[in-house]
Amino acid sequence: MNITIVLHEPQDLVNIGGVVRAMANMGLERLAVVDPAEFDPRRITGVAHRTEHIVERTRVVATLEEALAEATFVVGTSARPRTAQRNYRRPRELASRIARRAHDGPVAIVFGREDRGLSNEALDRCHEVIVIPTSPSHASLNLAQAVLLVAYELFLAGTGTPAELPTGKRSLGPARAAELEEMYRALEAGLASIDFFKARKPESVLRVLRTIFGRTTLDAHESRLVRAIGYEMRNRVARGDDPAADDPSNPREVASSD
Ligand code: SAH
Repeated sequence: MNITIVLHEPQDLVNIGGVVRAMANMGLERLAVVDPAEFDPRRITGVAHRTEHIVERTRVVATLEEALAEATFVVGTSARPRTAQRNYRRPRELASRIARRAHDGPVAIVFGREDRGLSNEALDRCHEVIVIPTSPSHASLNLAQAVLLVAYELFLAGTGTPAELPTGKRSLGPARAAELEEMYRALEAGLASIDFFKARKPESVLRVLRTIFGRTTLDAHESRLVRAIGYEMRNRVARGDDPAADDPSNPREVASSD
């Protein structure tokens, strides 16, 4: 199953054990841990027995970007909606889509640290954000219990269901997170070059664009086209009125169809 649970900066090894146990219960096997306070496979399997198949293959990485680079669908989790508008979903609502997306490419589900959850920057990397319904007076679940509830919904949704529709011949499959990040950099550069931001905060504009694109499933071809739009705007402005601008032999960024 192509679903990776990503723990961002977990502070307590006992919680990692609890997460691994919940994953084993619900048939998930891929774990990535970003900059953990401590990571000791022997102590983790001491907390969660018979989970060596998960713990020994856990990827421990330094940055969230590294953990997500290959993912084609990134889902965040948060105890409560934050000020910024995002694509918030209930786990039940999103589970079957996650199951389907896992057939097209790697899916990552990201959980935040125990004391402060995921930062805005981390949530920016997520296409959708799961909020598990809880009592409003106690919204925040224990990390491992949050993983358990999400994994349970995935289990019920049948993470083995095949994709419903065949994809078009031209489709390159969904864009990877690293390609999407490059696309956003290109869009930001293009918008800056035409002085779009003015009084607007680039960060907020980009967050809205991320939310819009997060709701769609851009394939690699589509993300390259949007990237090319950004770079073409920037390049055109940089060239000014130079007649060579339209010279097709000029090297420039185009959406390749490979
Ligand atoms: N004090 C933090 C809570 C962190 S709990 C805060 O208020 O944001 C640690 C992690 O567990 C969160 O980052 C999230 O990944 C997950 N989590 C806890 N409660 C959740 C809920 N109700 N819905 C979704 N995820 C939750």
